[in-house]
Amino acid sequence: MKSKGLLVVLSGPSGVGKGTVRQALFATDHDKHQFLYSVSATTRQPRPGEVDGEDYFFLKRSEFEQMIEEEKLLEYAEYVGNYYGTPLEYVQEMTEQGKDVFLEIEVQGALQVKRRMPDGVFIFLAPPNLRELESRIVNRGTDSEEVIAKRMQQAREELQLMTQYDYVVENDSVDKAVKRIQTILDAEHLKTDRF
Ligand code: 5GP
Repeated sequence: MKSKGLLVVLSGPSGVGKGTVRQALFATDHDKHQFLYSVSATTRQPRPGEVDGEDYFFLKRSEFEQMIEEEKLLEYAEYVGNYYGTPLEYVQEMTEQGKDVFLEIEVQGALQVKRRMPDGVFIFLAPPNLRELESRIVNRGTDSEEVIAKRMQQAREELQLMTQYDYVVENDSVDKAVKRIQTILDAEHLKTDRF
């Protein structure tokens, strides 16, 4: 009998490369059947090129607050002035079907998930250093100076919490980070898969 899929929480500071690493990891899932990405809800404005329902579900504040009230979120957090949260139903249904579901979320939210679903696999993606992180956020070119400063302050606080994760993976290169995560997932599957 196949067991439930893994709930994989990929977390770490803004700009560390969670999205890039996740996409590279998903590209190794050749039959596109095992890895699924949980699309988050947010109240922040879409960036150019972002697609509603693919990158995020872009919601009004009142809509997000209704989801909180109706307990439709696995976790949520306020981050640099906006809400971000994980719709619960998708995660539950897909892990029941044996898929590995990936959340790409900041630290407050990840720690909420850890309390609620301690069987998840909690991975902190760490930058080689803070200067590298700042240059990645600046080079992304999507945030104002004020927002960059807030994201960096948040990053310093988030780095203090990495010890609460099951694994810390340094993102010194995308290929290396992906290989490390694959090793983690293989080991976690050996723990949970039963014949
Ligand atoms: P961004 O505005 O750069 O897309 O995201 C800001 C931060 O919020 C990033 O660290 C991102 O991973 C995180 N984030 C995205 N979705 C969620 C979510 O559903 N819940 C939580 N707690 N954080 C999220």
